[in-house]
Amino acid sequence: MLTLTCPCCGVTAEETELAPGGEAHLKRFGPGASEAEFEAYMFARANTKGVVFERWRHAYGCGKWFLAARSSVTLEVFGTYPAQTSAPPADLIAAIKARVPGWEGYP
Ligand SMILES: [Zn+2]
Repeated sequence: MLTLTCPCCGVTAEETELAPGGEAHLKRFGPGASEAEFEAYMFARANTKGVVFERWRHAYGCGKWFLAARSSVTLEVFGTYPAQTSAPPADLIAAIKARVPGWEGYP
């Protein structure tokens, strides 16, 4: 079972207490965007095998959104961090690179 620690309230919660929110760090486009950009925002997902960055909500806890880095293969959790960030923290990236040899890093 997937277990994540909410960075907002500090509670370690099982997957049943959380609500998934899909891929993290999507680039959102405004009213002047092309249809291709909007289509990519709406439908295109990386669906990576390996290290993934996801949005989660502590639904049966504090109710706040946060982001998590984990492996989609082993369910190993590399870390969680607040949702108010535009990119994963540098220390988390370094920890993932140390744990997953050959990982190319966050784009
Ligand atoms: Zn929480």
